[in-house]
Amino acid sequence: MDQQPADSPYHRTLPIGERLDPTPLLEGPLTRFEDVRLPPLAEMLVPEEPRRGVEDPSACPHCQRHPHRIWEDDTWHVDAGWTRMGLPYVGGLAPNEHCRLDDAPPHVLASLGPLMQRLSLAIKQVPGVARVHFSRWGDGSEHVHLWALARPAGMMQGRGAMLAFWDDVLPPLDPAMQEEHLRIVAEALAADGGTAYPTRQ
Ligand SMILES: [Zn+2]
Ligand SMILES: [Zn+2]
Repeated sequence: MDQQPADSPYHRTLPIGERLDPTPLLEGPLTRFEDVRLPPLAEMLVPEEPRRGVEDPSACPHCQRHPHRIWEDDTWHVDAGWTRMGLPYVGGLAPNEHCRLDDAPPHVLASLGPLMQRLSLAIKQVPGVARVHFSRWGDGSEHVHLWALARPAGMMQGRGAMLAFWDDVLPPLDPAMQEEHLRIVAEALAADGGTAYPTRQ
């Protein structure tokens, strides 16, 4: 791919190649880093590499009804458990049809709010969960999706965006506990509509 440095008034202000001072990451009210070393700010090249699902829609993970789909209805589905979980629950939420946020149809957008509330309440039924945080990044897969992350009760070090970092380093749930947590969420969602474990025999 023939890439060029991205150019905009913003880009022209950036200290490309320099190692930036990480002090704000150490001193912010919600940070829990004691030491951070960032790589030098890399060149920003365009066009960017395409996201998953752009060049080969058949490889889009959210378009496949894989075994980690723990709940679905006619419009949305929830995936969880395909990887280690250090938090009590981490999972994805995506529409069944392949779309981007930019072109998602009105019925998908309109049903997202009520479903976020249902999913939050379902995850809070898992023992030890205080709050449910949602994130929407969109740099991996083109298919629009959100993440839901459960913050353990009393874990003040896990407030805010730090929670995603803790998920990577907390000890993984043992398989029986992970299965139990996913079952609680799937069945709580299905109690108000849709199907728990639609891809299981
Ligand atoms: Zn999915
Ligand atoms: Zn897709």
